[in-house]
Amino acid sequence: MKRPTTTIKIYQAFPCVPPCPLWLKICLLLPLTIALANTVACAKGTDATASATPKSESPAATPVPPEAAPPDSAPLPHIDSKRAFLYTREVTAFGPRYMGSENHKKLERYITSHLQGDQVEDDAFTADTVEGKFPVRNIIAKFPGTKDGIIVVLGHYDTVYPLRNSGFVGANDGGSSTAILLEYANQLRGKKRDGYSVWLVWTDGEEAVKTWTDTDSVYGARHLAEKWEKDGTLKKIKALMVMDMIGDADLDIQRNTKGAPWLLDLIYTAAERAGYQSHFYAGQGPIEDDHIPFFNRGVPCADVIDLDYGYNNVFHHTPQDTMDKLSPKSLEIVGDTILETIHLLDQR
Ligand SMILES: [Zn+2]
Repeated sequence: MKRPTTTIKIYQAFPCVPPCPLWLKICLLLPLTIALANTVACAKGTDATASATPKSESPAATPVPPEAAPPDSAPLPHIDSKRAFLYTREVTAFGPRYMGSENHKKLERYITSHLQGDQVEDDAFTADTVEGKFPVRNIIAKFPGTKDGIIVVLGHYDTVYPLRNSGFVGANDGGSSTAILLEYANQLRGKKRDGYSVWLVWTDGEEAVKTWTDTDSVYGARHLAEKWEKDGTLKKIKALMVMDMIGDADLDIQRNTKGAPWLLDLIYTAAERAGYQSHFYAGQGPIEDDHIPFFNRGVPCADVIDLDYGYNNVFHHTPQDTMDKLSPKSLEIVGDTILETIHLLDQR
């Protein structure tokens, strides 16, 4: 009986699940057209900037502004995508991992067992929801840097509560985000960070327990944003990036306009460096996700999400969200791009 129409968490700008009135289609197509135009304009701008860069023999002719970042010649970072894919498979194999379930507890132990020796903190509380009270636990792993400030990378590990008896296992939605963060931890562990501190957050209770509203969604993120506002952490956050549904073999990351434009652009620049830009920003629109409580408090945010999961997003919040739809290459594309974005942020 349960179909995902009432549990789809976000407002996808394009494509639109029918029925879609004509006025809405026009409203949605317009920003896409503008987005495409902007993309072309951006590409031209980049070319113009590159050609305007002074040659070494005449540096005084057109001096580089002091705020301009030097060309980045550092080697591109690479995640171990096979390992990240294995994590996704193992996480998915637990089955439904909704708030309050036994599988959820198993997954908490799985995550923390992969963070042994790391600086790990909990943000645990009880959420009062329309379906009752649930224990919620955000898991935070901190990797200190030399610069004053924090880069937060965040992804949810819970699965959809209303689909708990439907066979929904959330390989992409919940699985991929959990796994990519575990792989980021591997990449950060044991290395001296010559940059900002990086905090990885496995958020809980991202999914609505009934229908997505401001009060029935992102339970963990809302609690954490409030807590970090009170203790002053929010002011130290230079950038916050959410990973969600990033394993789709047909990877197509939307430009979520509920984010800081400069950070969205920086992610695109990072993708360009690796030659992955064709997987980013073909479409755009406002999407609600774990970043919203931080975004609303003025934190520079980017939600890295592919909400075009199967034709017309048909696999989203269905029992068809399974491992066979995913690809290690997609984890690699997002993984490498975000690590490079962190590197670019460190230079700022
Ligand atoms: Zn979801």
